[in-house]
Amino acid sequence: MSEDKPELEQLKSEARKAEEDIAKLEALLQEAREKRRKAVNLLEKAEKPAAAQDPAAAAPKAEPADKPAETAGAAKPAETGDSESVKMLNLARETGRSTIFDRAIKMKPCNIGAEGICCKICAQGPCRLPLTKAIKDGSEPDKRLGLCGATPETIAARNLIRMISAGSSAHADHGLALVETLQDAAKGEAGDHPWKAEDKLKEIASKLGLSDSLSKDAPQLAADVAEKCLSEFGKQTGEL
Ligand code: SF4
Repeated sequence: MSEDKPELEQLKSEARKAEEDIAKLEALLQEAREKRRKAVNLLEKAEKPAAAQDPAAAAPKAEPADKPAETAGAAKPAETGDSESVKMLNLARETGRSTIFDRAIKMKPCNIGAEGICCKICAQGPCRLPLTKAIKDGSEPDKRLGLCGATPETIAARNLIRMISAGSSAHADHGLALVETLQDAAKGEAGDHPWKAEDKLKEIASKLGLSDSLSKDAPQLAADVAEKCLSEFGKQTGEL
């Protein structure tokens, strides 16, 4: 076994060297792409007068909505700031797939939707209440109402609350999985999880109103916290 060690060290060193080489190549690739993007921009500018003389050449070319960023001149992967995301974005680009960054650059938001004043809560709508210049500068009173009588403020507030509610619900399962893991850990059935932050556990217990449990040891306290949290899921009465 001890004879294997130098060989393992050698392999580790080679792996590290390979990682460094990959990082350097990725940086070079990124630099090359940036140069190409700039060159393409300059070329397009240089060709513009010719296109203006030729209406056929000047006609806008239809671009598929999911065209990847590289050819559409959109977001650069390096802008994400996360090396693993950069790898995924590079791969997506190389294989011709569009990403959220590409689509965000190309998507023109609807002015009414961007202000949250489009309501689709009921089938009488959609009701759109655009803010006109006259209302904005105060030369006209704001009499905007949806069919049901909802004001722009009501519509915007409802939209926001519904978005928050839908987003939170979408992650409720993740919260449940955490609570179940805490419960398993309390029983010693969640693998080798050490109790690293008992102070945080006590803080949460305190917020949950479990003051009687604070003197218990970590596993018992965790069991109480997990039980209390589980009772919050699907709660039919009282405050959430
Ligand atoms: S503003 Fe009122 S009537 Fe219009 S879609 Fe919303 S809820 Fe329905």
